[in-house]
Amino acid sequence: MKPALIVHGGAWDIPDEAVDACKSGCQRALGAGWTLLAGGGSALDAVEAAIMVLEDDPVFDAGYGSHLNLDGRVECDAIVMNGATLRSGAAATLQRVKNPIQLARKILENCPHMMLVAEGAERFAKEHGIKLCKPEELVSEAEQEAWMKCKADKHAAEHHRGHEQGTVGAVAIDRDGRLFAATSTGGTCCKLPGRVGDSPLIGCGCYADSEAGGVSCTGYGEAIMKIVMAKTAVDLLRSRVTCVDPIAAADACDLSSADLAAREAVHLLGKRTHATGGLILLDRHGNPGFAFNTPRMAYGYVALDGNFVIAV
Ligand code: ASP
Repeated sequence: MKPALIVHGGAWDIPDEAVDACKSGCQRALGAGWTLLAGGGSALDAVEAAIMVLEDDPVFDAGYGSHLNLDGRVECDAIVMNGATLRSGAAATLQRVKNPIQLARKILENCPHMMLVAEGAERFAKEHGIKLCKPEELVSEAEQEAWMKCKADKHAAEHHRGHEQGTVGAVAIDRDGRLFAATSTGGTCCKLPGRVGDSPLIGCGCYADSEAGGVSCTGYGEAIMKIVMAKTAVDLLRSRVTCVDPIAAADACDLSSADLAAREAVHLLGKRTHATGGLILLDRHGNPGFAFNTPRMAYGYVALDGNFVIAV
């Protein structure tokens, strides 16, 4: 089967100054994942490699440069899911793991449970060869500055502007038809310590089923959880999508069923929760789809001719 790969770097009001950095991050993430897939590598290795690039890039809200919580600390969440077995590995509220996706993978492959949090997750990381970092090593100067402004002025919304979101995700299918989806985030700016959003929750921020497709979501976590958005989108891929979104219905003939499913899920998010967000997906044949109801989303995928399509 022909491999396929799609990535995202968050759906939000991305300011003009951040567009190039977001594009370049998506380009490098696609490059890292596609090099593996094109060489016959596994979809699991590809999503991990793509997400690590995005986690290491401070323009995104994952790993280094994540938003700080109310206490001024980074707390990261991540998940990776196997579409063949429906098994996921997830970790939440990590303060000392540089690349949370690596720990999610270790949990997927080596843990009897599917999700670990906080100290227990970090202990598991250490026991499985992941070196823990100091919490301060995950804090970027820009996020520290933004947090100081929030602190001095009661976390006013305008301080969050320009550094609002930027969760990252990837979905891949390899030559052998293996499908994996993954999501990694630092969560929302100035969240309460211990808060966990949609991102590491199976069915909410991520879902994969080889019989239908794989999805990674981004946006307002508390709303995405309400409609279990990733699983909803996968179920839309499974069924024939009926258009309730009038805009999608109007150009339905120009849209692939993958794009239609993505649009329907995001439409439902807006309709039932009045919140914003977006998602990327691959259907089981590897066709990419995406949708967002925010001003912008950073994303990229490998087109049929092998070219990278990157957009913000
Ligand atoms: N969904 C993430 C969360 O709520 C944030 C985001 O996607 O930007 O933690």
